[in-house]
Amino acid sequence: MEYKAFRCLDCKVISVFSASVSDGMSCLDCGGFITPLVNAKVHGEKISKMTINVEVNTKQLDKALKKAEKLAKAVADLNMEINNLGSE
Ligand SMILES: [Zn+2]
Repeated sequence: MEYKAFRCLDCKVISVFSASVSDGMSCLDCGGFITPLVNAKVHGEKISKMTINVEVNTKQLDKALKKAEKLAKAVADLNMEINNLGSE
């Protein structure tokens, strides 16, 4: 089963949907506009809830935050490119 992760432009919450239903979905938390992050694959147990809470070890928190910042920047750059394409 393939899942897609989306980040809310308003509240920054990550929402994960099964790839087959991901079109036209909005933020699970606030209903805001979401932008795709990555394709996510789930190995093993089925996901029963549509939201995933990511828990990180406090020692790895800095690392995780840096990764999240990089990811956010990549998404912002991508949005900019998409917007540029749209205006051509
Ligand atoms: Zn939201």
